[in-house]
Amino acid sequence: MLILDKFREECGVVAIYGHPEASKLAYLGLHALQHRGQESAGIAASNGSNIRVHRAMGLVGDIFNATVLAGLPGALAIGHTRYSTTGDSALLNAQPIRVDCNKGMIAVAHNGNLVNAGDIRSRLEAGGSIFQTTSDTEVIVHLIAHSREQALPDAISDALRRIDGAFSLVVITRDRIYAARDPRGFRPLSLGRIPAAGTRVNDAFALASESTAFDLLGADFERDVKPGELIVIGPEGLQSRFYAPAAPQSACIFEHVYFSRPDSFVFGRSVNESREALGRQLAREAPVDADIVVAVPDSGVPAAIGYASESGLPFRVGLIRSHYVGRTFIEPEQRVRDFGVKLKLNPVRSVLDGKRVILIDDSIVRGTTSRKIVRMIRNAGARQVHMRISCPPTISPCYYGVDTPSKRQLIAANKSVEEIRQFIGADSLAYVSLEGLKKACGEGDQTTYCTACYTGEYPTDYVAVDDIRPAHFENESVNAD
Ligand code: AMP
Repeated sequence: MLILDKFREECGVVAIYGHPEASKLAYLGLHALQHRGQESAGIAASNGSNIRVHRAMGLVGDIFNATVLAGLPGALAIGHTRYSTTGDSALLNAQPIRVDCNKGMIAVAHNGNLVNAGDIRSRLEAGGSIFQTTSDTEVIVHLIAHSREQALPDAISDALRRIDGAFSLVVITRDRIYAARDPRGFRPLSLGRIPAAGTRVNDAFALASESTAFDLLGADFERDVKPGELIVIGPEGLQSRFYAPAAPQSACIFEHVYFSRPDSFVFGRSVNESREALGRQLAREAPVDADIVVAVPDSGVPAAIGYASESGLPFRVGLIRSHYVGRTFIEPEQRVRDFGVKLKLNPVRSVLDGKRVILIDDSIVRGTTSRKIVRMIRNAGARQVHMRISCPPTISPCYYGVDTPSKRQLIAANKSVEEIRQFIGADSLAYVSLEGLKKACGEGDQTTYCTACYTGEYPTDYVAVDDIRPAHFENESVNAD
């Protein structure tokens, strides 16, 4: 029986091989991946004889400075940025995780959630293994150390065959970088090449969760790491092997709906293109007589542009987002209604006043944000608010690395579309269909998607632990994007 891992993490990973400023490049890569996790970040770098690690809580830009990066010398580096949903947000669980084991010194950074981590962990603990963190990643490290295979590529392959679920991971040793994706290809991971320049006679390699990182690194996109593939980059160049046979592909469709940046190519496709296509699809499936199309920024913008172009209605900036809001604990003593959302978003009255507004957002999770935004738009003078959502109703939690609350808190798992409309106070509400979503994201021979959050059909065997209460969705009222 497989026991579901308790923790859900959103993460981004990066790796650099063959560049004298590897940790600096890893740092820049993490900057580009900051949206994938804002809780902690870390970099491990090797100078050929030692692997040094720096990890801390907070944002990438706050954690690393010139002094810290000078302490991470070498031509190889991996990096990680993380957001976790449970009480395990301690520094202890920050990555990369480094160990000095019977296979040598290695550090691992991982994006995705395993569905059998709890099961493996219990067995290893019964055999005397001592775990120092609660993260899935440490399970992978233990499996590598425990493997009977002596050569590291074989030990990593052996470990990867034993785990199930979502993993895109990068590993650093003293002189090599390894990168792998799970056989179903849930999470993205791309390979880039930084052309030789100056005194650097060979090309350097980069790996990143999203291709947007390559733009900042001056790397050319080469290709995606393939599902089931293990890439090894070392003194002998880049080598590839398949540690597991191909499984039916289940790329996470939510990467295209919300999670990845629109300037990335994910699973071989432009995220912006998918989002605009979603907006156009939504306009065809759920047209409505109105005056303007307004996005909930930033995530709703490309879909709103698509909706506007298909419907022929003008796209207007009706909500302004403050980009400087982290978490705030200072509230006026006399409580301001919807304070959290107001900190992040403010309506443009001159645009909204007297208008029939089509409001586009990428998703409704608990419904509380939409309810506040609809109220905000009405208070700014809108005559009607028609909410349109560029994905189907979210009815089931993700067990593969996206932070979703338990079924109990997912509004669409408990209410009909009409009941949700009433709850958020909109004049009408419509979601894009599942078929429309897949079409807009280019499902076809090349890519098939995991849509479990919209269907409840999971591509892995699992036991649902459905009363998990991720802290983020329980406690946070500021969640407008
Ligand atoms: P809610 O109030 O729970 O319905 O929040 C919905 C908002 O959260 C939408 O504007 C989404 O853009 C955003 N959202 C959806 N999924 C996530 C996620 N996994 N992490 C953070 N924000 C999200």
